[in-house]
Amino acid sequence: MENLNLEKYALVAKNLNLRSVRITGEAITTSPIRIGSGRDTVDVTSLAKVGILKLGEDPVIPGSSWKGAFRSVGEIVASKVGLSVCTGLTKETCMDKIENSFDNMIRGKRYGEALELVWKNTCINCKVFGSPSIESAVTFLDSVGKNCKLGVRTIIAIDRKTGSVRSSGLATVEVVESGCRFPFTLIGRNLPNYVLGYIISIMREFQEGRSQIGGYKSRGYGFISFENLRVDISPIEIGDKVRFRGIGEGDVEVILTKEEWEKAHKGDFQVLSKFEEVFKKVKL
Ligand SMILES: [Zn+2]
Repeated sequence: MENLNLEKYALVAKNLNLRSVRITGEAITTSPIRIGSGRDTVDVTSLAKVGILKLGEDPVIPGSSWKGAFRSVGEIVASKVGLSVCTGLTKETCMDKIENSFDNMIRGKRYGEALELVWKNTCINCKVFGSPSIESAVTFLDSVGKNCKLGVRTIIAIDRKTGSVRSSGLATVEVVESGCRFPFTLIGRNLPNYVLGYIISIMREFQEGRSQIGGYKSRGYGFISFENLRVDISPIEIGDKVRFRGIGEGDVEVILTKEEWEKAHKGDFQVLSKFEEVFKKVKL
């Protein structure tokens, strides 16, 4: 096997462990939210209540819903800095475009070339949130809300085939009311500083009310606010200053004062914006 500079591709090279990141806290619903079980569509022919996803009596935001929401908000964040990303839909991911060459390289045991091909031809979303053949660099744990108030709403269901409202088109949907606290955990491996900045920018979109999670966004559902955040990064180098070295190709070091790191560690978005600055500069 060739002598690979795996570190250059740390974000997609899974057999390296250069950094682990853990962001924990709570996501509090500031509007009703609706995370359905399965596809979020309503059967217009039935007046049966359309339930939300639950564990026992408690509402759940599955890790896969978090990941999907982060990925789609990421599209907005990335486009703001001029980065284009794929839709992430089956058969439309960056990996789908290079599938044949990738398979050939793997069959020929040309792993270095394959890794470089993946690195050069995949968007930040495929690298961070995964795609066929790329394991996600971030994991979101399932969030189970405790003591949450659930409600029901009667909505007018639009017939998806004709686009019209049918006479029977009333449906009752279950929602999680505002004020529900969901635990939030994101675990990241080998996240370069610019990727950490990308994640922070996505969280800020939710935090500042520009993005929503779940269904019925057009009805104003799905707003959340993060509280009691903790950002853990290891290893970190603490000297006079706290240094976060760049990881992988093109990344740059972030240096914080100890005071700033204390704040960043407690999820202070103002200090964490130093990582966002790196994301704006490093466009990989
Ligand atoms: Zn992509």
